Amino acid sequence: MLKVNPHYEKLPGSYLFAEIARRVKEYGQEHPDAQLIRLGIGDVTRPLAPAVVEAMEKAAREMGRAETFRGYGPDYGYDFLIQAILDNDYQGLGIQADEVFVSDGAKCDVANVQELFSDDAVVAVTDPVYPVYVDSNAMAGRAGSYAQDRWDRLCYLPCTAENGFVPPLPDRPVDVIYLCYPNNPTGTVLTKEQLKPFVDYAKANGAIIVYDAAYKAFITSGAPRSIYEVEGAKDVAIECCSYSKTAGFTGTRCGFMVIPHGVKGIGGQGQPVELNAMWKRRMGSKFNGVSYPIQRAAEAVYSKDGWAQCMENIRYYLRNAQVIREGLEKAGYTVFGGVDAPYIWMKTPEGMGSWDFFDLLLNRYHVVGTPGAGFGPCGEGYLRLTAFNTLEKTQEAVERIVHG
Ligand SMILES: *Cc1c(COP(=O)(O)O)cnc(C)c1O
Repeated sequence: MLKVNPHYEKLPGSYLFAEIARRVKEYGQEHPDAQLIRLGIGDVTRPLAPAVVEAMEKAAREMGRAETFRGYGPDYGYDFLIQAILDNDYQGLGIQADEVFVSDGAKCDVANVQELFSDDAVVAVTDPVYPVYVDSNAMAGRAGSYAQDRWDRLCYLPCTAENGFVPPLPDRPVDVIYLCYPNNPTGTVLTKEQLKPFVDYAKANGAIIVYDAAYKAFITSGAPRSIYEVEGAKDVAIECCSYSKTAGFTGTRCGFMVIPHGVKGIGGQGQPVELNAMWKRRMGSKFNGVSYPIQRAAEAVYSKDGWAQCMENIRYYLRNAQVIREGLEKAGYTVFGGVDAPYIWMKTPEGMGSWDFFDLLLNRYHVVGTPGAGFGPCGEGYLRLTAFNTLEKTQEAVERIVHG
């Protein structure tokens, strides 16, 4: 009989959102008249920009005519999109066309990139963390065993109010560091000066950084939109980007990964190996590119109208975030994030546990958040609220919490 991948057995169940759904359902059944407001939504809600839809329609019609039909596209993405990415996202940062890989989204990229690392590579993640970095390495056997909310081969970098959500450098040698800024779940950012030590650490220790910039379009504070704004990052960092949050592509699917030629690991003969070349090899064997209409749609995000329309949606979410932040502060809560991200990370009052506070918000105010403990041990004592609901519902939720 087939022996299955033994590492899957070690994975804890995806408890967080299932447990939230269970509690919300149970409450709804007991209180059928309660008007619940969901501030736990982790998905965009605004429709695609008209300029994006127009480009998608036009490309779809091209596919229906013999003269303009296209079959397989390039494995790494069409030149028109890669050029738009270079011109808009990496102007002046010295990234080359063959360092950009168009994909069907950042989740797949951040999950798949670990295939390039040896089985015994040591991985560091922040705590709390976007679970994909952890799970993808656990499935490959790189995380060790799971007990008491932790994997014993992962190096956790705690991020709390006490350190201002600035992760400490790893306290033991690691090969890979996953960073995500603006951060999901905390909504916080790092400045260039705060990122620099990670680049320096990676250089000094032969490590690489996987930088998830899925929320870069939300940055308003002047924090870097790309890790390549940090000097030296092109030698040590891979960057993952997505149109999901930038342009509402969660159901449309398009993103890209940047792997500069300077990012290298060590091969079996002790020779340096470019991760760029390895990823090209992987994409050639395992990927056939993103569909033409979707790449045209992504290109349209950068058009004058497309960009203005996408930014209007981002401003809408950021306004919601501001409503949440200011309302909760007025009510005496301690809150973080929400300035450069659609997430607000609130401290539970009086050291209350994440799940107890989740229940309190649900029972007393009929507001649904996400318990911070679900994102890692250091998330205990926090709750994540998101800015993806409507302005009206967001305002009402905050009113309820402020005025009871
Ligand atoms: C939403 C999100 C992504 C984007 O994933 P896609 O697959 O591009 O939709 C990536 N990273 C984080 C941390 C996210 O929250």
